[in-house]
Amino acid sequence: MNELCRLPVVRSRTALALATILFLTGCNQAPQDPGPPEISEEERATGAEQHQQLLASMGGEYRGDAKNYVQSVGASVADAAGLGGQCHFTLVNSDVVNAFAVPGCYIYVTRGLMAVVTSEAELASVLGHEVGHIVAQHSARQQERSLWSMLGVLAVSLTGSERLTRIAGQAVSLFGLRYSREQEYQADDLGIRYVSTAGYDPFAAADMLGALGRQERFVKETGGQDAARSLPEWASSHPLPANRVERAIQAAEDTGIAEDARGEKEAVYLAKIDGLLFGDDPKQGFVIGRRFAHPIMRIGFEAPPGFTLANSPEAIGITGPGDIRGEFGGGQLRGGDLDAYMRGLIGELVDGAPTQADLARSPINGLPARIAQLRVEGPDGGAHLLVAAYDGGGGRAFHFVIATPPRQGRAAIDQLFASFHLLGPGEVAALRPRMIKVVTAGALASADSLSRQMADRNGRALFTALNGDATVKAGTQYKLVRYRNPGTN
Ligand SMILES: [Zn+2]
Repeated sequence: MNELCRLPVVRSRTALALATILFLTGCNQAPQDPGPPEISEEERATGAEQHQQLLASMGGEYRGDAKNYVQSVGASVADAAGLGGQCHFTLVNSDVVNAFAVPGCYIYVTRGLMAVVTSEAELASVLGHEVGHIVAQHSARQQERSLWSMLGVLAVSLTGSERLTRIAGQAVSLFGLRYSREQEYQADDLGIRYVSTAGYDPFAAADMLGALGRQERFVKETGGQDAARSLPEWASSHPLPANRVERAIQAAEDTGIAEDARGEKEAVYLAKIDGLLFGDDPKQGFVIGRRFAHPIMRIGFEAPPGFTLANSPEAIGITGPGDIRGEFGGGQLRGGDLDAYMRGLIGELVDGAPTQADLARSPINGLPARIAQLRVEGPDGGAHLLVAAYDGGGGRAFHFVIATPPRQGRAAIDQLFASFHLLGPGEVAALRPRMIKVVTAGALASADSLSRQMADRNGRALFTALNGDATVKAGTQYKLVRYRNPGTN
């Protein structure tokens, strides 16, 4: 969550329009060889129009050296694909491991993915794969229809509520895009063609898939302990069947370039990501398992077991067992009037739709609080909404909005609401940003000794996820995760 989070923050109708464009355009089945690439004026305009909004919803652009590096590697891959000067490559400030392409040749890669990748050739492979989706005009499909996509329709048609639309639409985020297996294979093949044309080792594509596979294993091994990092986004948006790596090796062999004939440019890459922010950005707050804590706002809460939190600059997305969906956000408390804040929130949520509401007033952890239970009626049944608002002091208000299926009890939601509190100095001090630190292994270094230097409770598993499971060699560079000194950016 961004510290400048305000009410209302999102124009979800635009977001929905964007989603519609992304999911519904380009339904034509691409041929095996897509031919010379072409980006229409219309796609270009759509991409440009949505770029800023899309970026804001994902954590914004990551600035600094690594940003320019991604752009220059991307430019050489786009050149090789015949799209020189027509693609836009953006490094996203998100620790989710993902990369994706949007029509108009807008290509995004997260700093979470940058941490996993180990060489420039692997980065080029990721970008080449995404350019491949653009060239072949692949259209991503929405993962599934659920109660909540119906609630989204209900929200738009009945209430026009932007907030409700966003909550319902969480499952339909860009991170949930899915391509078919054939489309993934085709993007792999095209990507390998582009990176080898661009002068990179074509075998790096298989290495990159291996690195993402390691990340998936790390997530499985440590799942639940660090739920925020545990969303295997790349895995869900880019299915990783076992033979995909073998296919990538075969495609690399087909280029006729011998394995290791070209270097992968590891050292250049590692120099560029040395110091890269790792994990949560303190400006957006920390998601630690089921706990959210914001060191600058000095607030925190903890969701009950079975819940998952997802950090974005607009709000903290909350999902719970039995299709519970919601978000946590904040705004200004004008004149200290919490009732007015609650009324504003509810008004924004239901926007005049027929609603029954019960309101309770009682302090929570010493803070003035309001809890409202709403039932919004629709033509195909209704939805329960539970809303909590808190006076956070200093003219700040915070709130939860949770939508639950009618059959769901509210004990877990009450537990969530009761956990909101102001952080003490000790809690604030414990929230330190982390970064990638590249080190050269000494003569006596081992994976265990390097892992012990990791600022992570799963140090050994994270070391393997970031560096691979080959034996540590003296004189070779490795990625560690360390705490960042206070005051650096
Ligand atoms: Zn893909």
